[in-house]
Amino acid sequence: MRVLVTGGAGFLGSHLCDALLARGDSVVCADDLSTGRLSNVDHLLADTRFTFVRTDVSRTIPVDGRVDAVAHLASPASPPDYHRRPLETMAVGSSGTENALRIAHADGARFLLASTSEVYGDPLVHPQEESYWGNVNPIGPRSIYDEAKRYAEALTAAYRRTHGVDTGIVRIFNTYGPRMRPHDGRVVTSFIAQALNGDPLTVYGDGSQTRSFCYVDDLVRGLVAMLDSDAAGPINIGNPSERTVAELAELVLAITGSTSRVEHHPLPQDDPARRRPVVERARALLGWEPRVPTEDGLRRTVDYFRAHRDEVVAARGAIAGGQLDGATAATAAVPA
Ligand code: UDP
Repeated sequence: MRVLVTGGAGFLGSHLCDALLARGDSVVCADDLSTGRLSNVDHLLADTRFTFVRTDVSRTIPVDGRVDAVAHLASPASPPDYHRRPLETMAVGSSGTENALRIAHADGARFLLASTSEVYGDPLVHPQEESYWGNVNPIGPRSIYDEAKRYAEALTAAYRRTHGVDTGIVRIFNTYGPRMRPHDGRVVTSFIAQALNGDPLTVYGDGSQTRSFCYVDDLVRGLVAMLDSDAAGPINIGNPSERTVAELAELVLAITGSTSRVEHHPLPQDDPARRRPVVERARALLGWEPRVPTEDGLRRTVDYFRAHRDEVVAARGAIAGGQLDGATAATAAVPA
């Protein structure tokens, strides 16, 4: 297959490029390098089956020749990133998705949309099945990302209905692993970098909110299975092993052997209180399930961060004191 991967130089995108090339596919990687990094795909540039195109996919996706599949992953994804780039995030979810869908339509290609558990918002139903419609504040700070992805899902469904494009939607839950940027502001990266730097771990709120963390290799196996299937989805891809943020902090301290303390910061507005995927649909339709236990995945991620010590130290200024500005941080009581 020849596969176009938008956002192919990002954290997930670059691992997807690796997996596709490893099984013999050709890859066109389109990325504007706003949150992706060329260093993520450096090792692929010499491969004749790999083409890198630097472009903002919300404007144009210049691809020579036809493709058999389009995997649309391009978007800022960490909350600080999409808060910093609100209009770009909405543009890539809307125009970027339509540009990618047009290529799939013109080429008769399979189209994979990387959607998100954020479409469930701050869920009133727990755990989350795909049939749940979600609880999103349409004008809240997170709506930039949530509504862009919800629109992307609607557009994908419309292209399937209107043009018969072979589309598949996956909803990606929190994923972590090597190639995450130490300063991206997400909880796993922040805690590991803070622990390795001997800085306090910044727990937002009382740390009772939950997330379910999926290791990147598991996630990418799910993306490839979805590309290869003709399932329309949406299908949740994530690891149902649910932890509180406070538990994650303890786990990171134990794995790194760090003596950093935990420091509480205000809980950002509309921060989802809990999140856990139901993955029965992925099991039934894709034969997929996560394999890597959180402890193992975290160990591998810590090893990666240790091997990129300079970046971890350089991230210090960026992650100290939290990343969300006053407009997005709620005034929720901070525990002593
Ligand atoms: N979080 C935290 N400290 C941090 C970064 C995040 O306590 O330094 C919390 C955040 O408030 C949220 C959870 O960790 O409840 C996951 O945040 P992340 O930004 O990783 O992902 P998302 O909120 O998009 O799931």
